[in-house]
Amino acid sequence: MYENSKSLYKKAKELMPGGVNSPVRAFNSVGMDPLFIDHAKDARTYDVDGNEYIDYVLSFGPLILGHSDDTVVNAVSEAAKKGTSFGAPTSSENELAELVIDRVPSVEMIRMVSSGTEATLAALRLARGFTGRSKILKFEGCYHGHSDSLLIKAGSGVATLGLPDSPGVPEGTAANTITVPYNDEESLKEAFNQFGEDIAAVIMEPVAGNMGVVPPVEGYLNFVRELTEENGTLLIFDEVMTGFRVGYNSAQGHFDIKPDLTCLGKVIGGGLPVGAYGGRRDIMEHIAPTGDIYQAGTLSGNPLAMTAGLETLKQLTPESYDHFNKLGDLLEQGLKEIFKEKGFPITVNRAGSMLGFFLTEGPVTDFDSANTSDLDLFAKMYRNLLEEGVYLPPSQFEGMFLSTKHTEEDIQKTLTAFNNALDKIKAE
Ligand code: PMP
Repeated sequence: MYENSKSLYKKAKELMPGGVNSPVRAFNSVGMDPLFIDHAKDARTYDVDGNEYIDYVLSFGPLILGHSDDTVVNAVSEAAKKGTSFGAPTSSENELAELVIDRVPSVEMIRMVSSGTEATLAALRLARGFTGRSKILKFEGCYHGHSDSLLIKAGSGVATLGLPDSPGVPEGTAANTITVPYNDEESLKEAFNQFGEDIAAVIMEPVAGNMGVVPPVEGYLNFVRELTEENGTLLIFDEVMTGFRVGYNSAQGHFDIKPDLTCLGKVIGGGLPVGAYGGRRDIMEHIAPTGDIYQAGTLSGNPLAMTAGLETLKQLTPESYDHFNKLGDLLEQGLKEIFKEKGFPITVNRAGSMLGFFLTEGPVTDFDSANTSDLDLFAKMYRNLLEEGVYLPPSQFEGMFLSTKHTEEDIQKTLTAFNNALDKIKAE
């Protein structure tokens, strides 16, 4: 069933570490070789062996309109004909900036970069430069890209591969990163009692999406906002994943909390390489060339990427989020019923178009509880689901994503696939 993928992977392993250009793609934790993808359209992905899947990976989040949306593809093609990069400003940068500023409540000014990693590392430098402080605080199991300060007790591939503290991060850098459990007020208070005056920024995913999906408990974001304000610490929402996924106005609009800075990526690039950071004008003006905190990029604000982002965001309406909630509810309820009927534990966490399930009784509110999920069962189920034509992120510590192109019928088919996968596991 996967012969062509297998042979491409064999070759790729000679050429690239682990045969991939990003670790989670290697399928390590689900015990099989990765799929090589040939093409994809809407909510369907096709591998190089001709297998068809209902896709809940969506390139790990960006493709909120599904794959190769006609409007996005046509606009990008037209933009390419005018030139792919100029190293000079273009009107598409104004347009995307304006749209993001309009939709994301706390963003008054924005700087485009080319990845989420770049956005978070630049936001931290800005926070440190602005406050004159050196420490930052992050939460266990949150992932903010692979820059040195943030590769401490991180989620996503770091959690999947069990590499909480990557070699190569200098001790001095690691010492400036404080980590506390997500959703735990006491630990955060304690960290502030001890280090409050040295903490430049708290960086957090307002809904964690890199230890599976873990929403904030009631009142937690308010608590973090108040504590940071009291201590003169900047609050950075890393909305690289949640931006335009958790709600029409992103997670901060949904929860009505204003961070000082926001990092974005994924959806705002419509499947092309884009990241961004933005926030309070008085802070953003410290960035060069207005201010003296340096950050730059040859391909930043790339016209093709700006166009893809713009044409993606323009198509998202409040009704898109009604669609996500409707499908999300169906999937959530269906999963709970099937697992109950088959006698397997499950906890389902959902926020807008992000859904995470854990094979445990739960509740799952932080990285420790996420780790109670049965990873062997996850791997078995994963392989069976692929055979049933359902493509999930190949790790317990990644969420599932919905697009505007997914339909109720897709959800029903997906539930049938889960049903069949569990039957097969029981019969083993
Ligand atoms: N922040 C968050 C919340 C993310 O989910 C990710 C990637 N999954 C990143 C930052 C890093 O983004 P990128 O992979 O584009 O560098």
